[in-house]
Amino acid sequence: MSFITRFAPSPTGYLHLGHAYSAILAHDAAREAGGKFLLRIEDIDATRCRPEFETAIYEDLAWLGLRWSDPVRRQSEHFDDYAAALETLRKLGVVYRCFLTRKEIAAASLSAPHEPGEAPDGVIYRGPAQRMSGEEEESRIARGETFAWRLSIKYSQDLLGEDFARLVFVERDEGSNTERAITARPELLGDVILGRKDTPTSYHLSVVHDDALQGITCIIRGQDLRASNHIHVLLQKLLGLPTPVYMHHHLLTGPDGKRYAKRDRSLTLAALREAGVSPAEIRARIGLSV
Ligand code: GLU
Repeated sequence: MSFITRFAPSPTGYLHLGHAYSAILAHDAAREAGGKFLLRIEDIDATRCRPEFETAIYEDLAWLGLRWSDPVRRQSEHFDDYAAALETLRKLGVVYRCFLTRKEIAAASLSAPHEPGEAPDGVIYRGPAQRMSGEEEESRIARGETFAWRLSIKYSQDLLGEDFARLVFVERDEGSNTERAITARPELLGDVILGRKDTPTSYHLSVVHDDALQGITCIIRGQDLRASNHIHVLLQKLLGLPTPVYMHHHLLTGPDGKRYAKRDRSLTLAALREAGVSPAEIRARIGLSV
């Protein structure tokens, strides 16, 4: 099987050294394997994404010396695809409309994730005690109440039976070819959101859809997204999609010992480039050989 990997940033800020590490790691892995490196722009959140950040992504990556295979996939151009995937899940009966407000969800949730980043939005919602009746749904919709589509762990478990406990993914260690099989435990993340009124998809749904569509065989990304795998493997099973190999790299920290974040403006690649830092120095700074 040929090797295809990707870098999938969201244009919600300028790229920093942590992004450079992720992108170079994926790029170099593809080169070494004689495979392909793709770029995907994950711009489903219209309120946070900005064109200037997207432009900067292309500039920063090209400046680092990275080359990607065309076409670049921009998720905002493919909402129909994600709606179709959601419809498939709806037909399977594994998603439901959730009318709870954020406040109500927070009150009904377990706020402490098992490990950092386990629930990327910080809350784990275990789902309603019972399914809402069709009449109640209709009357709430008629009243103009908004809702989110959530993936039900319980209904997925009911549908998949014993296969639910057999969901596995292969994880590769950073910096070696050691691989191990991990049993997925989607219940750790609870009933995640797959679509909202304002954004008719979610990170989980669109990333799983696109990784399959683009034939990604190995996903290389930061540790902060590791917990999402547990949900992604379930979605792959439900949608009949293949499960790639995963490699989650350590998260880079700055001089203050904190993880790089988009808010650290002084450490963006754009700022470092303007300050005269060279791409080779960037590689050295993040511990990668030229
Ligand atoms: N778009 C995500 C981010 O910028 C990364 C998605 C992924 O690599 O799975 O954090």
